[in-house]
Amino acid sequence: MSISIFVPKLKSVFEGQIAIKNCNFVSIMTINGSEDIEKYLKHPVFHAIRDVSDDMSLQSFVIGGFVRDIFLNRPSKDIDVVVIGSGIELAERVAKKLGGLRLSVFKNFGTAMLKYRDLEVEFVGARKESYQRHSRKPIVEDGTLEDDQNRRDFSINALALSLNRTTYGDLLDPFDGIKDMQDGVIRTPQDPLITFSDDPLRMMRAIRFATQLEFQIDEATFEGIKKSKDRIDIISAERISDELNKIVMADQPSIGFKLLEETGLLGIIFPEMQALKGVDKVKGRAHKDNFYHTLEVLDRIVPNTDDLWLRWSAILHDIAKPVTKRYDKNTGWTFHNHNFIGVKMVPKIFKRIKLPLNEKMKFVQKMVGLHMRPIVLSEDVVTDSAVRRLLFEAGDDIDKLMTLCEADITSKNPEKVKRYMRNFKQVRRKLKEIEEKDHVRNFQPPVSGEEIMETFGLSPCKEIGDLKSVIKEAILEGDIANDHDEAYQLMLKTGIEMGLKPVK
Ligand code: ATP
Repeated sequence: MSISIFVPKLKSVFEGQIAIKNCNFVSIMTINGSEDIEKYLKHPVFHAIRDVSDDMSLQSFVIGGFVRDIFLNRPSKDIDVVVIGSGIELAERVAKKLGGLRLSVFKNFGTAMLKYRDLEVEFVGARKESYQRHSRKPIVEDGTLEDDQNRRDFSINALALSLNRTTYGDLLDPFDGIKDMQDGVIRTPQDPLITFSDDPLRMMRAIRFATQLEFQIDEATFEGIKKSKDRIDIISAERISDELNKIVMADQPSIGFKLLEETGLLGIIFPEMQALKGVDKVKGRAHKDNFYHTLEVLDRIVPNTDDLWLRWSAILHDIAKPVTKRYDKNTGWTFHNHNFIGVKMVPKIFKRIKLPLNEKMKFVQKMVGLHMRPIVLSEDVVTDSAVRRLLFEAGDDIDKLMTLCEADITSKNPEKVKRYMRNFKQVRRKLKEIEEKDHVRNFQPPVSGEEIMETFGLSPCKEIGDLKSVIKEAILEGDIANDHDEAYQLMLKTGIEMGLKPVK
């Protein structure tokens, strides 16, 4: 029997022939033809494991993500090795054979890890797991390969390749993971309700893999997530946000957010985003659905940035729309100050999701706060002073802000889009022009507080701040150049008008 592998998005390396032979509990497939699977097991690490395993009469296998990724043609550097016996003992002998490599041993977990050239290899004994209701930490006992494959989350993650000499490279695919890859399906090998109840993080992983690989979630698995969604409560926020960030960094993150929404998980882990969904209508006037709009902005920004935080800015740019939504009988739906309220919502969201509360968050706040500015600016005559102010506030993040704003134009009216894009071009040109002329991007006051104090013989006081802000405003308005002498003259004149007396 032969099948050809076809993976919808990621072209498989194995479009050749695969012969299947049967063995006790699983089918073993051997790749025939020019694309021999051994090609992927040529690394000296694998040869060392093979030789040591044979010497110790142990059966060992490479399992999980590394095997899956061979078939998906996305070579991985993380290798998980399962041995029927002690993972630590095997690892010690392999490390020695490879020239006395440093081994990190985690006795409590029965695992050992070594790094060899570009690879990171983790060794563990095959295990059987059983779960208790209130924890995702299982009770672990030694087990067979079958037990070990049974505890894997998805059929595509349960693949194993033999590393012993006589069966080197044989594929053990007990749950038809290869077929699921062909069909582009994420499926739990066991009853989904048990799988997700045992470890609810798997719900996030299912959606993450479906997003990254652009696979469908099998129907029963999907229903399982819907029914088990409340169990996500036992998972730490850090683990959830790890998965969420992987979704955000995918080529089409909207896939993941739609799945999170449809399964009901979004409302639990990110209620502010859930609240964006829906359309209100008054007297036949509706506003756009801000959930789908946000997802469109997010997908649109992907080709232009792999900056996680700019992508988060896209997710959060309209986050305050639900709380600022009003209906006005003259103007229709309004979301006044949603940018400023959004800035205030960001820290709470970051704290709960366990995203960093540092300059990354400040960057996102800046983007959320400023996201309307280039649009407003481009709707009007683009004045030098407005551009100067924008440059001053955005600083070095101005290009990222423009990228966000361009992604934010999701209008279905091609004329409108054309007009915005034309105006944005003008804004970008002006930004360049003004920056070359005035250098306000990283504004440093041309007259320092010290100089003001020396000039008027002052100790620290409010007047110094007032004078500095008069100078800044005059520069931003274009009344004076961003230049020491002009700023000094203005400071003298204004200081005297305020009743201060120069002492030098
Ligand atoms: P990626 O490398 O893209 O993050 P991965 O699943 O390959 O994904 P790991 O998270 O290191 O990487 O997991 C390695 C393997 O361990 C998986 O392929 C799967 O077989 C198993 N695994 C990981 N997490 C779970 C889980 N929560 N439940 C069951 N099996 C899991």
